[in-house]
Amino acid sequence: MKLTGMWRDALSGLVRRPATQRYPFERLPAPERLRSKLHWDLSQCTGCSLCAKDCPANAIEIIALDRKAKRFVFRYHVDRCTFCGQCVVSCRQNCLTMSTGEWELAALDRRRFQVHYGKEDDVAAVLDEHPDDDVAATGAG
Ligand code: SF4
Ligand code: SF4
Repeated sequence: MKLTGMWRDALSGLVRRPATQRYPFERLPAPERLRSKLHWDLSQCTGCSLCAKDCPANAIEIIALDRKAKRFVFRYHVDRCTFCGQCVVSCRQNCLTMSTGEWELAALDRRRFQVHYGKEDDVAAVLDEHPDDDVAATGAG
């Protein structure tokens, strides 16, 4: 009796559609409210560091090169981020947004998870001071 049930399951498994997705060959659209990789808008940033202070995962560093000239670099540790969204709520200047589509964040090299946002020259200046750091992405945010 049990054997019959087993054969029935095995045969039906041959013709049934798989329950899993054929990722990465097929990708479903991400949910609209997904919280994925953080982005930063330098133009409104005051360098207050509230986002960094409120981040429970210690995933943000605000590096001030020149406060008067508003030269800041935003260092984001993607591998520490829990995507809680607290920094977005904390920022009074609305500089921070969480993208909804960048969820494929796996990488073999851990340095890929350290992202620097800021003006190109400023990011280069920060990296010159710490040559062991690598950049995964740069730009004005
Ligand atoms: S989303 Fe949460 S964990 Fe990620 S950087 Fe913002 S406050 Fe930190
Ligand atoms: S909380 Fe907003 S304004 Fe303050 S440093 Fe962070 S991103 Fe800039």
